[in-house]
Amino acid sequence: MTALLILGGTAEARDLATCAVERYGAANVLTSLAGRTAAPLLPAGRVRIGGFGGAEGLAAFVAANGVRGVVDATHPFARQIAANARAACAATKCPHIRLERPPWQPGPGDDWRPFADAAAAAEALAQLSPTRVFLALGSGGLAPFAPLTRHRFLVRVVDPAAGPPPLPNYAVVTARPPFAIAAEAALLAEHNIDIVVCKASGGAGGAAKLAAARARGIPVWLIDRPPLPAGAATVPTVAAALAWLAGLTRISPADTVELS
Ligand code: NAP
Repeated sequence: MTALLILGGTAEARDLATCAVERYGAANVLTSLAGRTAAPLLPAGRVRIGGFGGAEGLAAFVAANGVRGVVDATHPFARQIAANARAACAATKCPHIRLERPPWQPGPGDDWRPFADAAAAAEALAQLSPTRVFLALGSGGLAPFAPLTRHRFLVRVVDPAAGPPPLPNYAVVTARPPFAIAAEAALLAEHNIDIVVCKASGGAGGAAKLAAARARGIPVWLIDRPPLPAGAATVPTVAAALAWLAGLTRISPADTVELS
């Protein structure tokens, strides 16, 4: 049994786990991680790692463990698990909400250009003369940039890459968010970056590169978020997720929980 299942992998999920553990006790709060990084930052409470086996597998997990509420606090670009969570909770009639941080908003001095997806950004880059691009997309989703032989790319990954990125000319740095503005500015200067390409992830952890780009006077190309599953109930903050949880009277610190 477990009372609250948090689908994690974000700073918000960790913050929520900390608050939920204070309220409900560590035994009642289980965070699930996909297992993408070798040494993930672990949240408070209980943790499980690895996929569930699609929406059906997640539904079976929810039912088998008597889960009483699910907060999907995964990354704004993690749409498969979001869809799975919605479907699994509908099938099991388990209360469910998505915690998704608001997108960044441009301010004075920002030169931002939106793109529907990475392929569209790669197409636009193909029109430019040779340039130096900070491809801040993580280790996945780089394939659309593979044909761009004239540009020089800087790629940042959390784990040392299992293999080289699928790019013709690149440098790789290994680092984990959050990032400081001064460090981001130094990185852009060191690699003489002309354009930053990143996901419209939102959140404080990745915002420093935007400030550094503004200070350097270079554009930021933002990949739009994929659409949410239709009808997904969403809250934008940890506080709002906690308020939603407070309405779930079936979760209380007195719950006896044992993960089956
Ligand atoms: P995704 O495409 O939405 O999910 C792919 C599959 O990974 C899911 O079907 C599920 O496998 C498994 N999975 C994803 N999140 C999981 C979780 N929290 N617990 C257990 N299984 C999970 O996800 P993604 O974009 O690859 O992201 C993977 C994880 O990294 C997410 O937890 C997300 O919060 C985190 N993250 C993603 C990004 C990003 O840019 N996408 C950035 C930072 C952090 P099964 O079908 O087998 O259950």
